[in-house]
Amino acid sequence: MSDDSGTGTGARMAVYQALNTIEDYLLDGYHSGRPAPEFAIQECADIDEATTTGVPANDSLDAIAAEAMRCQRCRLSAGRNRVVPGQGSSRPLVMVIGEGPGSEEDKTGLPFVGPAGQLLNRMLAAIDLSRETNCFIGNIVKCRPPMNRDPAPDEQTACMPYLDRQIALLRPRAFLAVGRIPAQALLGVKDGIGKLRGRIHQFRGLPLIATYHPSALLRDESLKRPAWEDLKLLKSILDDGSR
Ligand code: URA
Repeated sequence: MSDDSGTGTGARMAVYQALNTIEDYLLDGYHSGRPAPEFAIQECADIDEATTTGVPANDSLDAIAAEAMRCQRCRLSAGRNRVVPGQGSSRPLVMVIGEGPGSEEDKTGLPFVGPAGQLLNRMLAAIDLSRETNCFIGNIVKCRPPMNRDPAPDEQTACMPYLDRQIALLRPRAFLAVGRIPAQALLGVKDGIGKLRGRIHQFRGLPLIATYHPSALLRDESLKRPAWEDLKLLKSILDDGSR
């Protein structure tokens, strides 16, 4: 329901419009067309189930993790030891998205803690990022595929609502997709990672960089240089946005 009283959307909109008028005046009367501010949209999500995004009202990272722990939406639930919901800052600059848990992650419930994870930590640190301060690390699927096989399309689809809800809550400044599976899944394409890396994509209206999975870098040293180029591209986006 719209609110034109002294509280809620009506009041916030009035303040916003007054500030716009002052800004227009200060800019020599130039009337800039501004997009609707986020609070006007957010209001609906607070009142109701935000059906347009599929994100429940009052959602939280803890609620998502708790639901994922009980999840039996796909066959991966049968073989898991631990669900791996994701880990990191709740206000991240970057959301890093991998493919799915491996054996170490399945034991600990934490993403990217095996050898590939240690390399990922070093890659992030090289551009001033870390899961302790300014990144959130998640995966396309939250349960380990047996024998580390690729997650099947129906498994990815079953798990995607959890990632969608995490993205809606985290609202990162940019995404880093590590490996072919997350890059293809998020961008909805079938190109290989060699083709997808090296440029800025858009995902949910935000920049997304795709790069090689750290386990590929452990197998093939020659991929480290292009991966570094991708990280520098990500860093340039972040530095640009902070100006
Ligand atoms: N590889 C991934 O893609 N994700 C993890 O969490 C660990 C390894």
